Amino acid sequence: MPTTQPLYPLRFRPIFRRYLWGGRRLGDVLGKPIGPESDYAESWEIVDHGDDQSVVLAGPLAGATLHELVHERGAELLGKHHPQPRFPLLFKFLDAQQTLSVQVHPDDARAGRLNPPDYGKTEAWYVLDAQPGSLIYAGLKRGFDRDALARELHRGTAELCLHRFEPKSGDCVLLPAGLIHAIGAGLLVAEIQQSSDATYRLYDWNRVGPDGRPRQLHLEQGLEAVDDQLGPGLPAEPQPTGHPACMRLASCDKFILSRWKLSSPTEFGGDNRCHILAVVAGAVRLDGDANDAPLPFGGTAILPAVCGPAKITPIGSATVLDATLP
Ligand SMILES: [Zn+2]
Repeated sequence: MPTTQPLYPLRFRPIFRRYLWGGRRLGDVLGKPIGPESDYAESWEIVDHGDDQSVVLAGPLAGATLHELVHERGAELLGKHHPQPRFPLLFKFLDAQQTLSVQVHPDDARAGRLNPPDYGKTEAWYVLDAQPGSLIYAGLKRGFDRDALARELHRGTAELCLHRFEPKSGDCVLLPAGLIHAIGAGLLVAEIQQSSDATYRLYDWNRVGPDGRPRQLHLEQGLEAVDDQLGPGLPAEPQPTGHPACMRLASCDKFILSRWKLSSPTEFGGDNRCHILAVVAGAVRLDGDANDAPLPFGGTAILPAVCGPAKITPIGSATVLDATLP
């Protein structure tokens, strides 16, 4: 990888995951180059996790992996958060045509004891599209604890203790590690999360897999990972940031997620942090982009710390998600 070329806003090749519950909206709505199948579930946009590696699409660094950038250009990429063993955040889109299984993720302490060790997984969802009646399941209803959950899991009636709500497009919900959750059928979401694969499946709605058998559950580890003090997960109330175009959607010790509504050129970054950008309405041009075409709806990029402040120009108007380390 060239080490003397200055860094620039980086776009990466998406990595697709096909699962039973997926659909075609990653292509039809978000413009991703999916194939002909009808089960495209996830598009991993920004990832440095083992063999799952984002690869730079264009410019002098084309072909480099995110892991290589973290190791060889870490100070420029990550700014004040350098050094890191790997890129600490993962950004993906999910198209849920069916309701996903009910899952929980361990926190850093529990995931660090796994073999191999992983990060914990705190995540946040931003709803891009919600078909009428679509549901998010997040957390336990008030009055239900781990013992009640264990009882209902064994009875096959876990929905009795799951808090749920009907989200609308633009809603954001923060899901700390230990909060039980499921994405409901009909939702198209963007997800920011710790770069981790540590997931326990607690409940699969009494369904069977393609082979006619129930999918494997991880009841013991999953129940241990549940934090029943977290209560129901609710849509975030966006908070002002001091910049009139920018609202804070989620803030925790793992990441900060903001939403920019742009109608004129705006400076991003300049805070010695790396920014993940995702266009969720309209399209934008990024100063220094190696691609000629604007970053379209559904497009994502990394703005390395060293590139900020950089001007972002909406084509008309645009909405951009902006994720950073805290
Ligand atoms: Zn999850």
